[in-house]
This record gives sequence, C-alpha cells and structure tokens, in this order.
Amino acid sequence: MAAVFLVTLYEYSPLFYISVVSLCFVVTAAMVLGWFGFDVPVILRSSDETESILPTPEKQMVQVTNPFALEMGSGAASVTDGVSVRACCLEPCVLSCFWGCEVSALQGALQVHQHGPRLSTPQHFQEALHLHYHHCQSFHIGSDDREERHTQIPADRGITDFGPLPRERYPLVAVLTLAEPEARDTYNIVASVTVIHVPDDKYGLSARLVFQYLLTSQGNMYELKPLFMSADSGGVSGPPDSEHHSTTPSEATEEAHSMEQRPVLEEEVEEEEEEEEEEDKRWSEGTDRDCVVCQNAAVNRVLLPCRHACVCDSCASHFQHCPICRAFILESFALTQGPAAEQ
Ligand SMILES: [Zn+2]
Ligand SMILES: [Zn+2]
Repeated sequence: MAAVFLVTLYEYSPLFYISVVSLCFVVTAAMVLGWFGFDVPVILRSSDETESILPTPEKQMVQVTNPFALEMGSGAASVTDGVSVRACCLEPCVLSCFWGCEVSALQGALQVHQHGPRLSTPQHFQEALHLHYHHCQSFHIGSDDREERHTQIPADRGITDFGPLPRERYPLVAVLTLAEPEARDTYNIVASVTVIHVPDDKYGLSARLVFQYLLTSQGNMYELKPLFMSADSGGVSGPPDSEHHSTTPSEATEEAHSMEQRPVLEEEVEEEEEEEEEEDKRWSEGTDRDCVVCQNAAVNRVLLPCRHACVCDSCASHFQHCPICRAFILESFALTQGPAAEQ
C-alpha cells in the first residue's frame, strides 16, 4: 500500500518524492536522537517529555487578621421577605444593610476610600453612597455574636424587584464596620463590604454572596477569595466543615475559623490585583488534611491561579499542573510558614 503510493508519487514528480522522503528521514532521525537525550529543537519533540520541573514562583504573602466575617443565614431569601445574614466578628461591629444600592454609587464609594477619607463608619458609607440606595438598616453585632440578623425593605416602600437585567443596582450591600473607635487602630482592616444577590420575581437566582471586599486603613481594597480545600479530613477528629468553601472570612478563636488576608508584601506600591485568601485554621490544629499526592504530609500549598489547596510543600515542587484540575500553576504560597508547617 505504502509502496504503491511511493511509486505513484515518484512517477508523478521525482523532485517532490525526494523531498517527502528526506523530510520523513529528518523527522525520524530527530525523534531517535531526542530519545537518546540529544538536544533536538523542541518543535520536533513530542510534548510529553518537555515538562521539565521548574520550581513555581513563591507568592509573597502577608498575614493579616480580619475582624469581620459575614455569611448567608438559614431560611428563604427574597426581596419582599428579606434575607438573613450571620455576622461573626472579633470586635463589636455595626452591620449596615443597604438595599438596592446603585452599582455606580458603590464603585464611587470604594473610590472615595482609596483616594479620599477612609470609610470606617456607617456614616462614612452613607455619605459616600449619596443616598443612592432604597433603604438602609443597621444592626449592632457584639463580639462572638453569631445570631442571624433578618433584614428587609419595609413593605410600604412597594419594592418587589430591581428591574430587568442588566441591573444598575445591587439587591443588597452589607457593610461591616468596627463599632468602637479604639478598635479601628488595632486592625489594619477597617471595613468589609459584601454584595449579596437576593432573588426576586424578575431574577430568581438563589441568594448568595457575589463578592466581598476588605478595606484597609491605608486605603487599599482587597477582594476576598475562597480557597478550595478538601472538606473531608479522612475521619480524623474535628467537626465536619460545611463552610469550607464559603467566602466568609472568619475569626481567630479556637471555636470559629480564622481568616487571613495575605496581600503581597509591598503595601505601599500600587496594588490592584493582589490575591488575598482566606483559610480555615482548624486543619492546622490537629485535623491535618493529607496531601493528595503523597497522602503523608499535611496540605500546606495553595496553587495559583486555581486556588486549590491540595498538596504538601515537598510535592508541590514536582508539579507544573494542579493535580486536581490540571490548571497550569503560575504561583503558589504556603498556608503556614515556618516550623508550624513541619509538624
Ligand atoms: Zn505530598
Ligand atoms: Zn486546581
């Protein structure tokens, strides 16, 4: 079959025949040389063997205590019936719920925080939003107060939805600020802003946290992003962690979770895209989650950009792709540094 083809090709054009056979020879020779370890241009090699083990760059992180946490409460949520949220804060806080807050007004307020006076009290937020919201409701939250708060727009306002998509208003913006002025000097983070989607007749997507920002006293703004960790610790002690993948930050007491904001080191430099991660502290306090690769050491590496926390320090150096999702690893950082990580 191949011989017939070659003969036909030769009869058709001897020159073309010679070039095809030569090309095949060169490619075969390159592959053979490549197998024996000779340096052949990458374009001639198969892609499997090109995965050389380069260490992934370490992302420099700073550990910061976040006094605020907010998560969705239980029960149904709707614009007409309101929504329950649960705040869990290290210090007494004020929870301000801005219903129907204009998207542009919130962006403007966050700009004010970055370039003007810092937004560290509910009054600051109200002024910065210029009343571009339908309704504001405030709650005082004590420290370690995990009670759910129910907020809703008063029925006499007659607001049942926020119009067709795309919308100009967020259904609910929940702002947490420290209640006591002296506490504001203790923490680098002065406010947390959570945008919550609440379903209505026009857009029935279930209630959820859309995004969360933390505002610092230096005028920076960080978006909170969840880490993806195994929720199952393999039957070791410790309660089941239902909140592992939630975007809620948490606190540093034993009972609750701890959350660490870890922006890149250079605080003064213009920083826009800095990652900031939250994590659950409990795993490092005994319930060690095993590395998915060696099953032997505790998980201590967060892979970026996919944010899977699934391998230990030594295994992380052997991969260029995330073992969970196969995403290329651009950077990684350690959940805990120093001897604590070594067990
Ligand atoms: Zn490992
Ligand atoms: Zn991944």
